[in-house]
Amino acid sequence: MDSLSSYWIFIVFLACLPFFSPVDARTDRNSIITPINRDLYHSSVDLMEEIEALVHRHPNKLNIETIESENRGYQAQVAVVTYCRDRKEDDKSKFRILLTFGQHGRELITSELALRILSILSEEEFLPKMDRKSLNNTLDKLIVKVVPMENINGRKRVEDGDLCERRNGRGVDLNRNWSVDWGKKEKDYDPYEENPGSAPFSEPESQIMRKLALSFEPHLWVNVHSGMQALFMPYDHRNTTPDGASSAKMKALVNDLNYRHFQGRCMTGSGGGSVGYLAHGTATDYIYEIAKVPMAFTFEIYGDESAPSKDCFRMFNPTDLTTYKRVLNDWSAAFFTIFKFGPQLLGLAKSEESKLATRCPDQPTVM
Ligand SMILES: [Zn+2]
Repeated sequence: MDSLSSYWIFIVFLACLPFFSPVDARTDRNSIITPINRDLYHSSVDLMEEIEALVHRHPNKLNIETIESENRGYQAQVAVVTYCRDRKEDDKSKFRILLTFGQHGRELITSELALRILSILSEEEFLPKMDRKSLNNTLDKLIVKVVPMENINGRKRVEDGDLCERRNGRGVDLNRNWSVDWGKKEKDYDPYEENPGSAPFSEPESQIMRKLALSFEPHLWVNVHSGMQALFMPYDHRNTTPDGASSAKMKALVNDLNYRHFQGRCMTGSGGGSVGYLAHGTATDYIYEIAKVPMAFTFEIYGDESAPSKDCFRMFNPTDLTTYKRVLNDWSAAFFTIFKFGPQLLGLAKSEESKLATRCPDQPTVM
């Protein structure tokens, strides 16, 4: 090749560079960071104020308390809303449910769902096609405790611009800080995601939640997250589900929810067996294994798997009104199905278990 040909080849190469630069294009696409959609999402302050106002409008059904704790100069507070229609909170015949939302700061949609569920419980909002008489019969038998925003310090860091933060206000993952299999690290351990803390229950938020769970003694627990669509049961630290009758009841319930509300889209099974990695020191494993709560779940209510890894608001939260509404409608309906069938499954109310079982697919359905 003579030098003139080389010269022209070089010129053509330079001219084409803008059109053939896949690395640059990918970088541009990945660098798009979706901001929090303030038209759809409350700030943490507004959301808690709205919940407090709701509680004060319905003192016959709702109350709110704030529990504070401190460890080595780090303080946290957790608000707990209790729903009990006749305020007979010491009635041991009632079915006790403990729901927690917002354990990871970046999962804003979960706290929006907490507000929606409380609004429906207060009867200020309604589910479509809800049979009021049947609902009243169901709700008379329940005490529901709702923690709308477990990790308020971490959530504030997200609102200050660290959109990928899931840990608490001093960098500990609250869903790795519990004592079952605490501190064990997988090969792909990432401290930014999963820092378990200096010891089991080193964090005030986990201490508050443990105390709440042990004193309330719920029959049913749900830890609500986002990042995917899943209805998980124990275990998170093993790739199996537990043996026994209560495990079979949990499976029947999640399969029914998946069929009834999500057209089988949700992943089901054990957290550790389904999600692709084992998780150690999680809340749900403690609640099932140590607190002996017979039905314990982790629900993942939304995820956008097409979002680039740094685009965390989009990955964990709906960004448009239609999807935001659909997620809140579908999942609040699913929770009211739990309110109805949970007591029946545990034999605390007239059983409709056979109705559940025949409606469920035989195998867990993967989205
Ligand atoms: Zn999470």
